[in-house]
Amino acid sequence: MQKGKIGVSSDNLFPIIKKFLYSDHDIFLREIVSNAVDATQKLKTLAGRGETSASTENAKVRVTLDEDQKTITVSDNGIGMTADEIEKYINQIAFSGANEFLEKYENDANAIIGHFGLGFYSSFMISSKVEIVTKSHKDGAQAVKWSCDGSPEYSIEDAERDGVGTDIIMHVNEDSAEFLNKERIAEILNKYCKFLPVPVVFGKETEWKDGQEVETEKENQINDINPAWTKTPVDLKDEDYAEFYRKLYPMSEEPLFNIHLNVDYPFNLTGILYFPKLKNSIEVQKNKIQLYSNQVFVTDSVEGIVPEFLTLLHGVIDSPDIPLNVSRSYLQSDSNVKKISSHVTKKVADRLHQLFKDSREDFESKWDDLKIFIEYGMLTDEKFAERAMNFFLFKNTDGKYFTFEEYETLIKENQTNKENNLVYLYTSNLDEQYSFVQTAKDKGYDVLILDDVLATPLLNKFEQKYTDKRFVRVDSDVIENLIQKEDEQDEMSWEEKDELSPVFQAVCPDTNGINYIVDFKNLGENGQPIVITRNEFMRRMKDMGQLQGGM
Ligand code: ADP
Ligand code: MG
Repeated sequence: MQKGKIGVSSDNLFPIIKKFLYSDHDIFLREIVSNAVDATQKLKTLAGRGETSASTENAKVRVTLDEDQKTITVSDNGIGMTADEIEKYINQIAFSGANEFLEKYENDANAIIGHFGLGFYSSFMISSKVEIVTKSHKDGAQAVKWSCDGSPEYSIEDAERDGVGTDIIMHVNEDSAEFLNKERIAEILNKYCKFLPVPVVFGKETEWKDGQEVETEKENQINDINPAWTKTPVDLKDEDYAEFYRKLYPMSEEPLFNIHLNVDYPFNLTGILYFPKLKNSIEVQKNKIQLYSNQVFVTDSVEGIVPEFLTLLHGVIDSPDIPLNVSRSYLQSDSNVKKISSHVTKKVADRLHQLFKDSREDFESKWDDLKIFIEYGMLTDEKFAERAMNFFLFKNTDGKYFTFEEYETLIKENQTNKENNLVYLYTSNLDEQYSFVQTAKDKGYDVLILDDVLATPLLNKFEQKYTDKRFVRVDSDVIENLIQKEDEQDEMSWEEKDELSPVFQAVCPDTNGINYIVDFKNLGENGQPIVITRNEFMRRMKDMGQLQGGM
């Protein structure tokens, strides 16, 4: 037997690793299983090039739990390692990665809360000892066993192994007894490994016999190795997309439609996004997109990673450029992730535009379900707003839909004011403003329905782009004679808006001179963003003693 010391400076690296990784222990299994998958794929690549005589038949990764021995073992029939390779990849490289990580984050514990892994060494978070028994695919290779108890000292010796591949044997430590549980392991595998490209098996399949659940002989495969997003769109029917959706969100209502993402330049990205039918409360529906890297689950908490409004979509984004082994804050600042995010935004806008062009009728029928999503996107993402103006639909009191520009031709003749601005009349509450709507219609005017909370601030965006157009609420004086000048605008200065922006997401004046403050961060009782007038806002702030003097 040979002994050695892993090349690190500190003798107590492991306690630090354990401490730093505390928040997310279950990723150890993701790391060890994805290494096994990598090893399998590497062997397949070599076999494909005729560079190995090892068999790649029946490639699979097996996870076993031995509650008596207190071990979790991950076995593969992949590429394996020689003693020299263990020295290089485990003792030196893998450990230097851990070391580097600690140097970077030692003083910044906050930065690493969330999902990340340290590759192979994350197994020590839950183990008092880890053993590797491995046999390289190389002809005549000697099987070896590496063993390490969590100090930088390790031992390596010759061993026996049937066939090529690797077993990682984790002796679960006392603090981690929760992992010596079948359901817990199944749960973790289901979370991280559900779509890995190599079969992963754990336990046996069960069946019902005489009212009892009994194990069969058949191994229980936990993953789908060809999930829908890895296929080409032409090979998929509507039903396939629907079925995949049900797999992702078993109890959900059917989505409105989907987008199949398939990019290979300037980066690699695949995925399927679904537009859900949004209920009124957008807050509870956020964060359903799952991020994958090469079919390995990374996170389903995409807030801060994709633009906020996209967190309302469902589905999967997979890119090898999404780093696996990093913290959340790192993900947010990663330039690849940023590129991916803006690309996805563009794709979403393009797809909506295409739907609008291809089937106007269908688009209109879905509009009421889509509207909140699009409004939210327009209010929070400039680029999206720019694009969405082309297909944003206004509905009038006759139930007809128009784009902004289409509507112009409808009202051109008779709805102008003194400055020759076109005036768009709207009602924010059809019941309350019914008589005003009637009066306007009697005069031959057309009236739009803009009755949800996000619509009003949005008008400002349209007015900024189309400066000769005005939105006027149907119950305002303006309607008396459509040439009245609105000069009593209570506009906020940009400085004031800047000052408010950390607290509120949007400060928007509407055409009646009322500034609305839209607070997306604190939702009202009905789950909708809170909209208050500027004056009301000032009053509240003064009450709270937060405003000295005027603004
Ligand atoms: P990474 O996977 O990012 O390279 P890890 O720390 O997870 O880093 O693994 C370090 C290295 O150890 C791998 O790159 C691989 O060379 C080797 N290794 C780990 N697990 C296995 C395995 N099951 N079979 C073969 N080699 C492995
Ligand atoms: Mg790894």
